[in-house]
Amino acid sequence: MTQTTTEATLPYEDALAAYEPVMGLEVHVELNTATKMFCGCATTFGAQPNTQVCPVCLGLPGALPVVNEKGVESAIRIGLALNCQIAPWCRFARKNYFYPDMPKNFQTSQYDEPIAHDGHLDVELADGTTYRVEIERAHMEEDTGKSLHVGGATGRIHGATHSLVDYNRAGIPLIEIVTKPMTGAGERAPEIARAYVATLRDLLAALGVSDVRMEQGSMRCDVNLSLMPRGSATFGTRSETKNVNSLRSIERAVRFEIGRHAAILTGGGAVVQETRHWHEDTGITTSGRVKSDAEDYRYFPEPDLVPVAPSAELVEALRATLPEPPAARRKRLQSAWGYSDLEMRDVVNANLVDLIEETVAAGASPAAARKWWSGEIARRANAEGLDVPAYAAQLAVTPAHVVELEGLVTSGRLNDAMARQVWDGVLARDGAPTVVADARGLELVQDSGALEAAVDKVIAANPDVAQKVRDGKVQAAGALIGQVMKEMKGQADAAAARELILSQLT
Ligand code: ADP
Ligand code: MG
Ligand code: ZN
Repeated sequence: MTQTTTEATLPYEDALAAYEPVMGLEVHVELNTATKMFCGCATTFGAQPNTQVCPVCLGLPGALPVVNEKGVESAIRIGLALNCQIAPWCRFARKNYFYPDMPKNFQTSQYDEPIAHDGHLDVELADGTTYRVEIERAHMEEDTGKSLHVGGATGRIHGATHSLVDYNRAGIPLIEIVTKPMTGAGERAPEIARAYVATLRDLLAALGVSDVRMEQGSMRCDVNLSLMPRGSATFGTRSETKNVNSLRSIERAVRFEIGRHAAILTGGGAVVQETRHWHEDTGITTSGRVKSDAEDYRYFPEPDLVPVAPSAELVEALRATLPEPPAARRKRLQSAWGYSDLEMRDVVNANLVDLIEETVAAGASPAAARKWWSGEIARRANAEGLDVPAYAAQLAVTPAHVVELEGLVTSGRLNDAMARQVWDGVLARDGAPTVVADARGLELVQDSGALEAAVDKVIAANPDVAQKVRDGKVQAAGALIGQVMKEMKGQADAAAARELILSQLT
């Protein structure tokens, strides 16, 4: 680790009493195009190092880039989904700097002519209120390669004996989405930062343009933060915490930086404009490099690429492909399914929305869909380290199975306890629900003579309990129902047993 000294922080409440945070988030998202942004190299994650490279993405002399049309379309769809204006004409720019993981010595990016600009994304907070995040721009660029530092204790460059570079990632299309400075967030700044990135991630997933896997780096967030004394409207100097790669870390990094800036400012010091590193393990940031200004990069228009000039027809055609916004979809489905807020939240967190939607479309009731895709299957999926949809796909368990299982219950063939046994069998790959029920001989006894005989026997064997029911203590019938179920080896309809007992005793 480069720096072990922890800078002072002011307690969060004290910091907010004196200062108002200003935040800006830069999110880099890797597109899931099959090929890179300016060449035909594959983009598969985890391939052998330096097997997905060519003269273009290695920057060899004379190699000429060509724009990936699919990448441009994804950029426009992202811009539209963020309520942005789409530039009718824009160019790429060279951002010049040296870094070993960037073989061209410049990054092909966009500068003052982004493909999308001036939009917004409404973010719902835990208390049900909405915060509107203004989007400054969404621009196209390319990813860099990856350095691997060998020999040091932590994989960092300090203490390493040598470094290796993998250029497979160099040239993978990236969209950088930059917010305008967010003000008025107050103590909710950490929550808003997290909710914004979560909302953006859901939106990008719904658009189908990226894997949005923060843990794999296909979505990364830089957190810019500064403080203004309460009552002031002049922005302070910002710090930029780079590559914060989980939602929880974003929330923690904002909180930490608020406390750190406040400690500097109350102590009469000045915040340095710099990039900072986030440390997941300790929950702190440490100083990175002093931030270059844009002019240091000597941006200039890329001479090897033609300008991007999407026609109005193309933009409208792409607008027509936009999905329903995830938050609106969730609201619509929750009300259609009649789920409580808590039930819906659990369903969303377990990634069950699509599966339940398919199951209801296949004919199940929303209650049954939720019931059978939660519980036992979730426990098993969790033990396998999978979410339920992935686990169900692996088992080849489908919405049709849930529909069939519910049918066996509503037709009166199975009671709830039997249905659970059948579902266990389905999850054990024993076959479809009817096959499992047949194989295990699971069927409610429909023979009313057998049920009557069992009820008579149980009443005769429990005269005290029977008397209580006769005296009006109807809840005492529960014990008798239990006995009847036992007598029938669980294969009786509990409701029918209850009806029969009550009709005999009252
Ligand atoms: P850079 O290339 O230096 O990172 P960008 O324009 O890409 O600059 O992004 C800067 C981000 O920081 C934007 O999200 C912007 O809203 C935000 N920002 C700018 N000034 C401040 C400030 N004083 N405090 C907090 N955030 C800021
Ligand atoms: Mg930036
Ligand atoms: Zn290439």
